[in-house]
Amino acid sequence: MSETSAASNCIFCSIVDGRAPAHTVYEDERILVFMDLFPAHEGHALIIPKRHGENLFDVDPDDLEAVMRASVRLGEAQKHVFSPDGIAVMQLNGAAAGQTVFHYHMHLIPRLKGEPFGVHGKKQGDSRVLAAQAARLAAAFTLRA
Ligand code: AMP
Ligand code: ZN
Repeated sequence: MSETSAASNCIFCSIVDGRAPAHTVYEDERILVFMDLFPAHEGHALIIPKRHGENLFDVDPDDLEAVMRASVRLGEAQKHVFSPDGIAVMQLNGAAAGQTVFHYHMHLIPRLKGEPFGVHGKKQGDSRVLAAQAARLAAAFTLRA
């Protein structure tokens, strides 16, 4: 296990360590950006700090800052690639708030006018579609660095 991840049974730490797959958009020494496996809408992506922390109240402030900076860049990339009407930027703390993966993460969900709102998709995304979306977002993300 790397120094930056802590929980061996945490799926997001497994992704950070390369023990589980993900459709990566961007990474640096602090954060990782990848496609949500059950997208609530086309282009739904997650930003995580590489260092394990359960929720907002458990994460290094410098990591939080890196996540927030990346949220702006990812949102710009989503606007460029998907032309949504809006983008939901949100995160959940604790099971009672709806959190299901207990490694802090920020959701960025492109939204269209009039659609019913949801954070969790019902269907697993098609792997080829997610890979193509990650590649398009990665290109747009880099453009706005
Ligand atoms: P939350 O309810 O805020 O904890 O959201 C967890 C999110 O992680 C959900 O939107 C899931 O679809 C997503 N998710 C769970 N496992 C994976 C995975 N292996 N790769 C990508 N996204 C995942
Ligand atoms: Zn973790």
